[in-house]
Amino acid sequence: MTTKTFPFTLEQTEALAKIHPTPFHLYDEEAIRENARRITAAFSILPAFREYFAVKAAPNPFLLKILASEGFGADCSSMAELKLCEKIGLHGERIMFTSNETPDAEFIEARRLGAILNLDDITHMDAVVAATGSLPDTLCFRYNPGPLKEGNAIIGKPEEAKYGLTRDQIFEAYARAWDAGVKRFGLHTMVVSNELNEQYHIETVRMLFELAVEIKKNTGVGVSFINTGGGVGIPYRPEEKAVDYAVIANAVRQAYDELLAPAGLGNAAFNVEWGRCITGPYGWLVTRAIRQKNTYRSYIGVDASMANLMRPGMYGAYHHLTVLGKESAPADHTYDVVGSLCENCDKFAIERHLPEIHPGDLIVLHDTGAHGHAMGFNYNGKPRSTELLRRTDGSILQIRKPETLDHLFSTLDFPALASFQA
Ligand SMILES: *Cc1c(COP(=O)(O)O)cnc(C)c1O
Repeated sequence: MTTKTFPFTLEQTEALAKIHPTPFHLYDEEAIRENARRITAAFSILPAFREYFAVKAAPNPFLLKILASEGFGADCSSMAELKLCEKIGLHGERIMFTSNETPDAEFIEARRLGAILNLDDITHMDAVVAATGSLPDTLCFRYNPGPLKEGNAIIGKPEEAKYGLTRDQIFEAYARAWDAGVKRFGLHTMVVSNELNEQYHIETVRMLFELAVEIKKNTGVGVSFINTGGGVGIPYRPEEKAVDYAVIANAVRQAYDELLAPAGLGNAAFNVEWGRCITGPYGWLVTRAIRQKNTYRSYIGVDASMANLMRPGMYGAYHHLTVLGKESAPADHTYDVVGSLCENCDKFAIERHLPEIHPGDLIVLHDTGAHGHAMGFNYNGKPRSTELLRRTDGSILQIRKPETLDHLFSTLDFPALASFQA
């Protein structure tokens, strides 16, 4: 069981909404820092550990800065994500560049920043040389285990996933990179997304450790770091339980002793690229009920839409809802809670049992701190909302302005009105 909380009362939230009208995303700095420290503490039992926060989950400079100050690096996969890292002062090996189908310009930028290149394909060695003139001293490769490993619902089956090198290609890649003069190596994989079962993550680690040992046997290359990517789930549903970081860390420690150390790889660093579990539970989307209609179902229309949070519409994802001020009222009504896009999938909840809702009520969507605002889009010309940060001293800082129609129209050229006149 996971208790769904929100840091403010109805009255406090109404006061906040006077300054920052709904909808808005809110993040809790203290909770994010405490979570980061729990991770660092759990994995401190390994020879070396770094979490590279997956920037795409919450690409906001203030959030990145908070995580950087906790010692985290950043995992990037696009030009914008690299530039964001540079702007908050991250560079060198604090950046993991795990991209795919990578444009030349991004390889060039990643090398300018000194980021670790994590290549998605065997042909990318040649692509890097063509784009940047050389190979870096350090290279990482992304492994796709194919039918050897089952994926899960969000990421799918590895053999159907576009990412990574096959098993045969992996051995060839290290041998070729070694011949080409690369000096330090990493090994990466990511096979699941939003997975709450610790055993799944542990199996992935063991699979990767075993592969690192085989790579050493077959090619002579000993990897210096092993990265298991993202994919740690969060308990979106109250009946689910959060992942226990210590269970994973202890099993990784055991896998070091059993697998890596006997092969002379006991000093390799362990890296992850967690995004969702870092900020997800510590962010909320606050929206207001503006309409109610009763047709074949009872609908509550809210002022947020898929523009602010795509996950429910995109993959039927569950986000818990709280009607502020009605936390202990009986959930004796059944609603579809919907946004205003001209798409029937623009629904935050379907046939959800909730307390009676009236227009004007404030509704909190939980666990929107990762892959929330970030995935937003502008269909129907809906501007994306502001982002607010509750600082550790309790004050509120606006960390992203709300989009306005001027932002949306800034890429448009308008023909002179006269040209339309007869
Ligand atoms: C999305 C992604 C992550 C982060 O995944 P989470 O599920 O948010 O932890 C990490 N690495 C890569 C390569 C990704 O694509």
